[in-house]
Amino acid sequence: MSKFRIQMARRQGEQKAKEMGYDCFPIDPFAIAEAEDIVVEPKAPDQVGVSGGIIFHNDNVGIFYATNIKSEGFRRFTVAHELGHYFLEGHPEEILKTAPIHISKAGFSQGTSSIELEADHFASGLLMPTRLVGEVIGGSRIGLDGIVALSQLAECSLTASAIRAAECSDYPMAVVVSSGDKVAYAFMSESFKTLDKLSFLRKGVLLPHTHTLQFNRDPKNVEYSRTVCGETSLSQWFSCRRCLALDEEIIGLGGYGFTLTVLSSEELAEDPDDEAHDEQEQLVDSWTPKFARGR
Ligand SMILES: [Zn+2]
Repeated sequence: MSKFRIQMARRQGEQKAKEMGYDCFPIDPFAIAEAEDIVVEPKAPDQVGVSGGIIFHNDNVGIFYATNIKSEGFRRFTVAHELGHYFLEGHPEEILKTAPIHISKAGFSQGTSSIELEADHFASGLLMPTRLVGEVIGGSRIGLDGIVALSQLAECSLTASAIRAAECSDYPMAVVVSSGDKVAYAFMSESFKTLDKLSFLRKGVLLPHTHTLQFNRDPKNVEYSRTVCGETSLSQWFSCRRCLALDEEIIGLGGYGFTLTVLSSEELAEDPDDEAHDEQEQLVDSWTPKFARGR
């Protein structure tokens, strides 16, 4: 899966929000679907893990989301993900190759197919465009407080907001979602990756001995959405040589049984005015209109 296609999917999500006239939070994926004459309906799930889906029937398009999803943020993300399958170039064709219906398991699950990843990033860009995220997080280091503020304004889950904040922040940040003694998901910002040669926290690996592991030992911490802040180090989490001090901020995600950990550092690994950074942005910009016209 090319990084470029993922970046393009996010850009298209951002553009769609702009095109629909959104210049402040929250962006409403239900209203965007309605404007496209797409019927959105809740549906009782018949398979475990299904978050939603999209149906192409002649000229009609329908989107459904699973009724067992209680979180409004997750529902909105699910509908935005399905809109990705509608708007992104090649998605309807790819889906229609096998069946007129596509079932999704949205929510940044690692190791899924390319169109799932693209739809997730489209959703992330649509609901949290870079410019609006930047207005919330500003130019300084962002911690759990900033993520909570972003999640409330954008009406998105804490996890989706944390990942988006990491993508938009110049400061090194890593986001880890865990359950019990295992890692469920991990994301590192580009500047975090350059801090040292880091081992990647894959799904299913054991959590290192950290405040997070300690926190997860009491299920009530998770259930009651408690928060804990502690000091940790890069080497403790990523078995590397560099013993850089990091802040470890932890919050229980409630009924779903997961915990969100945000690792951040004051260290500014990447100069925002760096030329290579600018060039990459220009490359993406130069491609954007082409993709938009192609649809
Ligand atoms: Zn999907």
